[in-house]
Amino acid sequence: MSSSVLSSGFSEVRVRFAPSPTGYLHVGGARSALFNLLFAKHNQGKFILRIEDTDQARSTEESLRMMILDLKWLGLNWDEGPHPETLQDMGAYGPYKQSERLSIYKKVADELLASKKAYYCFMTDAEIDEAREKLKAAGEQPHVQSPYENLDPALALQKLAAGEKAVVRFRTRELKKDYILNDLIRGDVKFPSDMVSDFVLLRSDGMPVYNFCCVVDDHMMKISHVLRAEEHLPNTLRQLMIYEGMNWPVPQFGHMSLVLDEDRQKLSKRKGAVSCDQFRIDGYLPSAMNNFMALLGWSDPGGRELLTLQEMIDAFTIERLNPAGAVFDRVKLKWMNAQHLRALPNDQIWKLISSYLDAAGLKLPQDLSWQMQSVETFKSKLEVLADAVALYTPLDDSKYEIFPESEEALKWESTRPVLMAWKEAITNHPTETISEADFLKIQDEVKNKSAQKGKNLFFPIRIALIGKPHGTELQILVPLLSKKSILTRAEKALAKC
Ligand code: GLU
Repeated sequence: MSSSVLSSGFSEVRVRFAPSPTGYLHVGGARSALFNLLFAKHNQGKFILRIEDTDQARSTEESLRMMILDLKWLGLNWDEGPHPETLQDMGAYGPYKQSERLSIYKKVADELLASKKAYYCFMTDAEIDEAREKLKAAGEQPHVQSPYENLDPALALQKLAAGEKAVVRFRTRELKKDYILNDLIRGDVKFPSDMVSDFVLLRSDGMPVYNFCCVVDDHMMKISHVLRAEEHLPNTLRQLMIYEGMNWPVPQFGHMSLVLDEDRQKLSKRKGAVSCDQFRIDGYLPSAMNNFMALLGWSDPGGRELLTLQEMIDAFTIERLNPAGAVFDRVKLKWMNAQHLRALPNDQIWKLISSYLDAAGLKLPQDLSWQMQSVETFKSKLEVLADAVALYTPLDDSKYEIFPESEEALKWESTRPVLMAWKEAITNHPTETISEADFLKIQDEVKNKSAQKGKNLFFPIRIALIGKPHGTELQILVPLLSKKSILTRAEKALAKC
């Protein structure tokens, strides 16, 4: 199948996700990783994780580990790249961290210097700024022409040997033409070559710039398709020039739409979580995240909204990627999470919510049948795992307290008789647990005995169960409480009126 999507010079689908480990994994990045994985797996290809850490001041191992943790959590497993635990290279095209590939970039830069496609430029920053300002003042494009463009290479080497600092620049002035990129998502994109001037490949400290190492790595790692964020579209011109300069086969490119906030601005933290780890902490399921992210700019040919990873792999083609910005609809994400969550077996849901309940310090019954019954009761109310804490808190006896908003109702004359009748009815109930139907019957009994109705009847009962006159529906709560705990709570309420 893969042969149909390959262009000449490539024998296998190989794609990569190439994050810079300078922070957390943004959902936009995770979506890029996902689309790459879906494409690779759909075409029996390879998905590679490459670490673009040449910005040494900002790249950290901690960030790399965090990103790897998030990718693993999402189940976006890579075939080649740093090993998820040891970070040691896995695969035949390493090293997979750019910081470990400096000698490779140097070698390619030397080749470009030797073929006169690149040259050493000794201009200082101040000289560049001055030249740029002059061009601007003259109303021209700020494309600085280096006086070292045609410097004799032997002389350049002498200057370097004498300790002078130089960058390596790619020569662009002779490349007078339009570069046409047949973008797989955006169609033909035309870049006139004079959009750029002679650009830097290697800085004076020998560090390569992004556009250079990206091309070198994509070539050496035999990347067949570059699927990446739209913001990299303008970089592609420089990258095409380097491919041409090296006479390397050009991979196919697809620039994926931006992920936007509800107000159609670039997705940012102001509107809520944007990092994968925050979604994990909030209790989103990886299956729901993947499903949701896939539909940000891609659609299933069958129109399905709820899909597993395998279903997405089976259905994924680049033709269905939409170039228009995709809105990150948090309400839809929650809905989708709820659907994925409710589709899980109860024991799995219990396992997932337990860590939230434990972290909140809730003490709840240990027996399995109670746990399963509670999940059955609450799962229709769970959207994210963290919701479990608020749902289960009223079931923990140690959390029972009488809240200040109950004070007024506790002062009513009618409250004590209602609570006495309630306590008596519970005491007389023949079984340890009370079903929803039993509870409704008991409530009627209390109504008749105390001759109270409306809030005079319901508020005291609520207070005796959850400590406040408003809150959780009692008939779903009562079957999950033991008779003993209902009585203890009733006594606490009685003691206050
Ligand atoms: N390191 C780049 C980024 O994080 C990758 C760009 C690319 O995929 O070419 O945006």
